[in-house]
Amino acid sequence: MAINSTTGSQDTSVTAGHLGQDQLGIAPTDLQQTLELAGLLQTTLEINQILGHFLDSARLRVDFDSLHYSYDALGLEFEQGNRKRHSCAYRLKLAGECLGELVFTRRQRFAEEELQKIENLLCQLIYPLRNGIWYQRAVHAIHVDQLTGVHNRGAFDSSLVREIDLAHRNQTPLSLVVADLDNFKRINDEHGHAVGDDVLRVFAETLMQNMRSSDIVYRYGGEEFVILMSNTDRQGAELGAQRLREAVNQTVFSSKGLKIPVTASFGVASLGPTDNSTTLFDKADHAMYEAKKTGRNRVVCFIAEPAKQGEGI
Ligand code: GH3
Ligand code: MG
Ligand code: MG
Repeated sequence: MAINSTTGSQDTSVTAGHLGQDQLGIAPTDLQQTLELAGLLQTTLEINQILGHFLDSARLRVDFDSLHYSYDALGLEFEQGNRKRHSCAYRLKLAGECLGELVFTRRQRFAEEELQKIENLLCQLIYPLRNGIWYQRAVHAIHVDQLTGVHNRGAFDSSLVREIDLAHRNQTPLSLVVADLDNFKRINDEHGHAVGDDVLRVFAETLMQNMRSSDIVYRYGGEEFVILMSNTDRQGAELGAQRLREAVNQTVFSSKGLKIPVTASFGVASLGPTDNSTTLFDKADHAMYEAKKTGRNRVVCFIAEPAKQGEGI
């Protein structure tokens, strides 16, 4: 395990294996805290909770104003307290694997024995943190489509139920857009599956680049994608879907030196007072099939038929 640290102009590097009580120079009162922290760190795989336990324990032993943890590659960030002038920063690494950077700050410089205490604490943190990062990666992988990098069907199913609950409770609008590539089978048949895969990637990218930041795109399956638009009514969703349709139509899809014309059909539905996840999806899917039937490269909105006289009695 290697912990590289920088404090002011000082650079230090610590390598530690399994450290016993004597090697760590732990006083009996510290030993209790050490065991408590070790126990707490085993209770969770959530990185924020791991760092929270670590922070509470570190405060008992070293005086500092802020603690900041970041791991850019995974988009992880944890910050407690206000940053001050003096800092000691640790790039955490275990068996060559980067585990992010941890920075302590305060008004005065950190003394040597304080740095030693921090480094001893880091020896306790590093394995639980590594386990938390692995867990985070596994959770992320479960929800991501490997080909396109967008969220997958599993993520969609759980998000849709949650968003519908929220929208019903808060009485806010919610819309769903189903997007399906037109004649995609022909692209596969004419140019091969690898080109088809490239087209799917560019299609997903085009959707992401042209939707609002609050919209979320999922690959529902094959060449069908869905875009969940929270706080968006039917008119807003229709405009958004038109923008996406136009963007796909204008984008040059190139793969293996070929330029492939690509279009997609879009179906839009908005949440009604009695809708659940199945009925909302069916409405958007139905609208998308209408777009196919009426010529493709189109946006169709689901409009509920007016109730016939005497219906529901
Ligand atoms: P339509 O305009 O009516 O939607 O026609 P289509 O050809 O797009 O639809 P169809 O359902 O006939 O064909 C979909 C094709 O998508 C067939 C399937 O092999 C292909 N496909 C599904 N998943 C993938 C994938 O991950 N990669 C590639 N390359 N092709 C895929
Ligand atoms: Mg299709
Ligand atoms: Mg399809």
